[in-house]
Parts: sequence; structure tokens; C-alpha cells
Amino acid sequence: MNTYIIHITGLVQGVGFRPFIYRVATELGLAGEVENRNDGVYISINADRRTLATFIRYIWERAPVASHIDHLVTSEGKNRRFSSFRIIKSENVSGEITGVSPDIAVCDDCLSDMKSQVHRINYPFINCTNCGPRFTIVKDLPYDRAKTTMHDFAMCDKCKSEYTDILDRRFHAQPVACNNCGPVYSIDTGDKEMVGNALALEELVRKIREGGIVALKGTGGFHLLCDATNEASVRELRMRKQREGKPFAVMCADLKTAQTFAFLDQEEKYLLLSWQRPVVILRSKKELAFSVSNGLDTVGVILPYMPIHYLLFEKLPNHIIVFTSANLSEEPLLRSNAEARERLSGIADLIITYNRDIHNRADDSVASVMAGQPVLIRRSRGYAPSSVRIKMDAEGIFAAGAELASSFAIGKGKEAILSQFIGDLKNQSTFEFYKETYDLLKRLFRFTPKIIARDYHPDYLSSGFANFLSSEFDLPQISVQHHHAHVAACMAEHHLEEPVIGLGLDGVGLGTDGNIWGGEILVADFHDFKREYHFDYIPILGADKVSKEPWRSALSYIMRYMDVDQVLDRLDFSRDLTSEQISMYRHGLGKRINTHLYSGAGRLFDAVAVICGISSVSLFHSEAPMRLEAKAVKGIKESYGYTIESDIISFGKTINQVVEDILNGRSDGEVSARFHNTVVFSLAEAVERVATKTKLNRVVLTGGSFQNRLLTGGLAKLLSGKNYQVYLHREVPPNDGGIALGQLAVAATGTKG
Ligand code: ZN
Ligand code: ZN
Ligand code: FE
Repeated sequence: MNTYIIHITGLVQGVGFRPFIYRVATELGLAGEVENRNDGVYISINADRRTLATFIRYIWERAPVASHIDHLVTSEGKNRRFSSFRIIKSENVSGEITGVSPDIAVCDDCLSDMKSQVHRINYPFINCTNCGPRFTIVKDLPYDRAKTTMHDFAMCDKCKSEYTDILDRRFHAQPVACNNCGPVYSIDTGDKEMVGNALALEELVRKIREGGIVALKGTGGFHLLCDATNEASVRELRMRKQREGKPFAVMCADLKTAQTFAFLDQEEKYLLLSWQRPVVILRSKKELAFSVSNGLDTVGVILPYMPIHYLLFEKLPNHIIVFTSANLSEEPLLRSNAEARERLSGIADLIITYNRDIHNRADDSVASVMAGQPVLIRRSRGYAPSSVRIKMDAEGIFAAGAELASSFAIGKGKEAILSQFIGDLKNQSTFEFYKETYDLLKRLFRFTPKIIARDYHPDYLSSGFANFLSSEFDLPQISVQHHHAHVAACMAEHHLEEPVIGLGLDGVGLGTDGNIWGGEILVADFHDFKREYHFDYIPILGADKVSKEPWRSALSYIMRYMDVDQVLDRLDFSRDLTSEQISMYRHGLGKRINTHLYSGAGRLFDAVAVICGISSVSLFHSEAPMRLEAKAVKGIKESYGYTIESDIISFGKTINQVVEDILNGRSDGEVSARFHNTVVFSLAEAVERVATKTKLNRVVLTGGSFQNRLLTGGLAKLLSGKNYQVYLHREVPPNDGGIALGQLAVAATGTKG
């Protein structure tokens, strides 16, 4: 028998990894030891070759769900004799701790324990080393019960014996609890509070059945629930929440129920069932209450992930329930019971809370399958704060992100740790949330900033925070152009280093020429970028109003490419505007008052949506482009004209033909499909031109516009068919929620000059 050393790196802390190793070793009758060190987990073991092979196979096959093994290297060590297997208490490795597990959906073993373990019958906070809250309850590291919000709950004897028994599934499961000792739900009716898990569940079920609205405390914030097939309830919820139009996610018991109202492919099923349990955007099969998706052809679906969700569906097995974050428009999630009571009493008929604090907020994550691959749209619960492994050393880099869908990143060695999705910083309390989260992650990960990276836009609040940090601590700062950062983010997560053809398509991002970019074909690496092609500049008046009022884009596009007096009156959207509005707009634009030049794809999509009569205003971000996409008729091959001259892709012909089609009575759905094809073809042609010139073969698709499945799917397919290597985001969102990773990667590599 030899002594072998196995070195494992990856996310292996706070996920029950060492006890897991202990149990596998014990099962195979192996003696040795396991230890956490700064650079991963080390196992020393006495074994023959065959047992060693089995041991390693079991490690790969059975590793805890939330762990992630990057590398496992076995070597022969100097001969030692072990008499048993033991876990060596880790030295103080806290200076280098980089792993905090995200929250994990309740596991099947726990669901079965919930029906069989005497002290946990129907216990809605059941968890084990493989599941339960993590990031949302952590106050500090190392991850230990005393440093979580479970600190307030003393374990009963039964829980304690499980917690201390290394062969138990709950060995060192920090949130371990049961009916006798753990957190408990209570209902808050305004004037009185009643405590009891069974009671809370009963009331929850009753209210939903009655068509009422319930606020339910979740893992990382509060949710609002109501019957998703009851139009009156959903409309009432919309009214009370003052959320005009943005689709609501729904929760249902299982895949089978989801399939009754949505189309599901294999990839979407995996995503729905994954332990991260994101909301998955699916194509609707049948409409629920109209106000759930408000006319869009998709529905966001999430499966149960907390024990109480399962208990709820035991009582209402066929129900489909609106499951939406209980934040008021643009504000961050509500976290404390007191906040919920104060802010939600006018919205919910019933508030159900529990007596354990949420320390860190985390919204439900959102994902979508595009071109056959899962793409994150909002990265939060289940994902944050998992690190993204990158190739370069990013130690000490703080990347501030953007502004609208903000998230920042900090670098620890060759890992980028992104904050959870934070939201629109222009909202005061969201900006507070941003700063608070920075302090938290700084403390958790023992982060000391050395270099500050930010967006090129000086007026973003995140840029302001970056300025503050760099002046406060006298740190060097670099600003990264918005679309360069988008491309770099996608390169970083795919470990690409050589230059790529980067397509950065979104609504707005400040360009180096002072104009507002967003239809960009770049050749980029981490050092630098060159703008090869861009969508034609369109002057649009209104600054902050532009994305909320897409009619501005429509008017501007028509004025740019057509004789506006010839067509405007005949287009439906002109009736949404007063003649005064129109003449003031034209006058202002002529004088270039509050007018900027835009090359953003978002503006082009806005314009076409409006011309099609789909939507003149966007009540939520990107509403017009989303509705335009939803309308598109499947199976249409035709497209419109466009031109590519010098470095400009012009959609002048497109706009003319779109207007002509609409005036000739072609349906908005057919026009939308032709328009989407046009954008795909024009981008593919631009890519071909760049490729011919540069001999580059890798194409990165990034920016918020690549949340559009028609665009992304169509372009990825076309380019792959021409043998390009196409890269979509997989670990961070294509929208501004992923941009901090790119800023960080650029800062880590250093810019030219
Ligand atoms: Zn479990
Ligand atoms: Zn207990
Ligand atoms: Fe962007």
C-alpha cells in the first residue's frame, strides 16, 4: 500500500466537501487525512492502485452538488501509515478564503426526510450539507454557524448529534434545524402576529385559493404570490405593485405542470431542475391569466426550491402561482420583517415571515436557453457569489460595472467574484444596496482594492463610486469603453486571449467619440479594440427619455431616411402623439437640442416596433423590442435591404421597406420576422468582411440585445454554418449585469499606452 496525495482545486469550501471525502474514504475502508489549505483541498491516503481509482471515481461522481472540482491531481507521497481517516482542522486560511457557496434548492433527500424524520415532519426549514441557505445567511467567513443568521438558534440535542456525527448527512450543515429548535414561520395580519408553520401554510393556501395576494419571505428577500390563472387577482397585484406591464414569473409543482402551459426542451428541463433553480423564460403554450405575461409569447417559470413551496403544492398540486419579487418598482428587495410589514401591508392581503434574518439579499436568477445553450439574464440566487475562473491574475481589482442592471466584480487571484444582481443605481436605495454589498464582499473575501476599473461613462453612479475609491485610497483607475467591456466579459469566461470579432449590441453605452454606441462590430482583445463597423448614427432627442419613449427613435429614424411628411400621418403611432409633440420634436431635433447620436441596436428595434404599431412607449426596460420579437411569425425567409459602406451599416432601406410594408397592410408579425432576418444577415455580412480582412474566426455575441432569442439563435446558427466559432455568454449575463467581468479582465491585462 502506497501513500497518495490528492490535490483538489475548485469550489470546495463551505459545501461539505471534507466530510464528503471522509464518508467516501470510510466507505472504502481507507485511512488517511483531508485538509483545507489556501490552494485547495489536500487528501493523503493509504491505498492500493485499484481502491485509489475507485476512490477518485467516487469523488468525481458523488461530489456535493454545489461544489465544483476544477482540477484533481494525484501524486505519490512520501510513505506514511495512517490508522484511521480524519479531517485535519484547518489552520487559519481565512486570509485566502475564496469560496462561499450560493444558496442551494432543497434536495430530494431532505424532501424525503421531511416526511419521515420524526423531528422534521413537514419542517419548512429542513436542510443538509447538500442544500439550504448559504450566501443569504452568511455574515462573515470562515463559514460557520456562529457567523450566520442561524447564530440565534440553539441546536436541540437531536440536531446537535447529527451536526457532530461525521457520518450523518447533516454533519456541519450550518443551518441545521428541526421543528424543536429552528426558525418558524409566522403570519402578520397587521394587528397581530401568529406563530406556527402549519398555521402559516394553511393561511397561505387559503389566501391563494381565495384569489388573495400573499407576501412570503423567501431565501434572499420577499415574494408576492397569487393564483396565476385568476385574472382579477393578477390584475389587482399589478395595480397594487404599480408594476406596469413587466411580466411576472410563475411557480408550479413540477415539469409536468409546466408542460401544460409552456414548451420545454431538454436543456430547459435541466435548467429548471438545476439546484440553482432560476426562473427560466419559456415559450408559452397556453395563456395563463392575461396579466401574467401581458401579451408576450413567453412565460418565466420557476420550480419549487424552498421546503414551503413543496408543502404549498402538496395542498394545491395543479395550481400555477405568480411568484414575483416583492420589491416596489426599481427598488431593491425587501429584507427585514419590519420593512416588509411597512412596505407590503398595502399590497399583500397576508404577510408570512419567519424569524431568521436574511443577511444578504438575492433575487431569483433568470435564465433562458438560446441557440441550445443556457444563458443567464439575471445572475443572483444560486449563482452569486460563485466565482468565475479566468486565466489572468486579477487580485485586487475592483470593477464597478455599469448602471442600469448593475453588478460589480472583485478579483481574487485568478477568480472574479461578481456581486449578485443589484439593479438600477439611479434609484437611491439601490445605490445604497450596491455600496453595502461592496462592503460585504470586501469583508467576506478579504479583498483589498489595488486597481479600480469602471465604465468609460463618467456620470454613471458606479463610476462615481469608482472615483471615490480611487481618490480615497489613492489607487490607479482605468475606464473601459462599454462595448469593449461587454466583449472582454465574454472572452474572459471562455478563456479566450487572442483577438476576436466582437459584436456588442445593446441600447446605450458611451463611445470614445462622445456618441452613444450600441451597434458595434469590434475587433478586440483584452488590451485594446478597434471599431470595424457600427450601425449608422441617428440623432435622437430626449436623453434619459429615449429608451422609455421609443416613438422618439421611430420619428428620428423616419426623419433620417424618409420624407417624414409623406408617411407620418398614415402610420398608426402618429395618433399616439399630439401634433404639438411632433412639431416640437422636429423643431428640437433640427436645432440639436438635448440631442445625441445613437448607433444602438436597441434604438433600431424600438423604431421598428413603433412603426409596426406595436408599442409607442416602453413601460419597462426593452418592452418595445421584446414585443416586436414576440410578434415575429415563424418560418419566414424574406428580409429587407441594408447597406454596408465604409464602416457603417445602414438600415435606411430597411426602414423604407418596413414603412412601405406596414402601409400596404402587411402584418406586424411578418414585418417583425423580416426585420429580424435583416439584422441577422447584415451582422453576418459585416462579420465576413472583418474576417476576410483579419483572418479571425472567433465571434463573440454580447450586449443586452442578445437576450433576443430570434436574433441570437438566428445569428449563431448562420455564423456556425459558415464555420465561425461562435461564443455566447454562459456564466454572466450578456446585458450590463455581466459587464464588470470585462472591465476586470481588461484591467488585469493592462491597456496599451
Ligand atoms: Zn438536503
Ligand atoms: Zn433541532
Ligand atoms: Fe450594455
